[in-house]
Amino acid sequence: MTEMTGTTFDHGGGVRSLRVPIPDNPLGHTLVYVVDTDRGPVLIDTGWDDPTSWDALFAGLTACGTSVSDLHGVVITHHHPDHHGLSGRVREASGAWVAMHAADTAIVRRARGTRPDRWYTYMTEKLAAAGAPEEHLTPLRTARRRTLPGLSPALPDREIVPGDLLPLPGRRLRAIWTPGHTPGHVCLHLEEDHPAGLPGRGRLFSGDHVLPEITPHIGLYEDPDDATVTDPLGDYLDSLERVGRLAPAEILPAHQYPFTDAPARVAELLTHHESRLTDLLALLATPLTPWQLAERMEWNRPWEQIPYGSRNIAVSEAEAHLRRLVKLGRAEAVAGSDPVTYAAV
Ligand SMILES: [Zn+2]
Ligand SMILES: [Zn+2]
Repeated sequence: MTEMTGTTFDHGGGVRSLRVPIPDNPLGHTLVYVVDTDRGPVLIDTGWDDPTSWDALFAGLTACGTSVSDLHGVVITHHHPDHHGLSGRVREASGAWVAMHAADTAIVRRARGTRPDRWYTYMTEKLAAAGAPEEHLTPLRTARRRTLPGLSPALPDREIVPGDLLPLPGRRLRAIWTPGHTPGHVCLHLEEDHPAGLPGRGRLFSGDHVLPEITPHIGLYEDPDDATVTDPLGDYLDSLERVGRLAPAEILPAHQYPFTDAPARVAELLTHHESRLTDLLALLATPLTPWQLAERMEWNRPWEQIPYGSRNIAVSEAEAHLRRLVKLGRAEAVAGSDPVTYAAV
């Protein structure tokens, strides 16, 4: 990897990356990749929808010797706003197609059709059912329910079909479905030999699925219009094994930095989740609601210091772990409890 400017990098073999900042977020930036094709450059993800992020994308493409108007297509790893936020603007400026997996496109379509008050009602009911205290629910009940950020993401115009090669003239980029972080998350496998001859099979654009130092958030697939009981953590662990078996020579993630030895990172993540599930089982010696479980789980800081919005994410993560334990037959809901508590079996 060669640094071109402080925020632009050349990964060799017609792949470059640029950093698009995420305002007010500890993650810092999204790595947007530029893949050359015979029909013009294609982006993997676009970045957060904000004027400074747009300026960074624009400047980064110029530093790569191209421009927004030259773009041929946009491949989105998943629907989150730090990946898909600028897709609409890129499409307007270039006429590029935007591709996404159908499961995430369904979320985008429903988000565009969901009224903010419906979303607030759904979240309030969900958190109440998880055992959230009244003081946590009050702000949701009294919020000015007019707008929500990220509720008008661009509707993709192409579908990413798992296992298929994407329409990138002159390149071999294959979609690998890796649900878990979102139901339609995909990794993109560039099947060509590594440009520096590193051992392994090609390079993998991993989105948020596998990152070098962060464990991606695995929560429930929040969706007011879908009552399916899903097992996102189970999906995620299966998807991790898929990447491990693929054994790419290098991982090009959407945050932090590229790295090698994917199977080792996959093994670390699998171990992390296994030991977390074991810790939770110990906590569930006493029946707990998802909220109480979240309060007792280990986070990157004490529960009292976790901000309001992050608590919602933490509870969702606790619920995803409970779903997994229930599915494995290692925990179950206590009959007659309301809100529902769970206990180790
Ligand atoms: Zn994400
Ligand atoms: Zn992300």
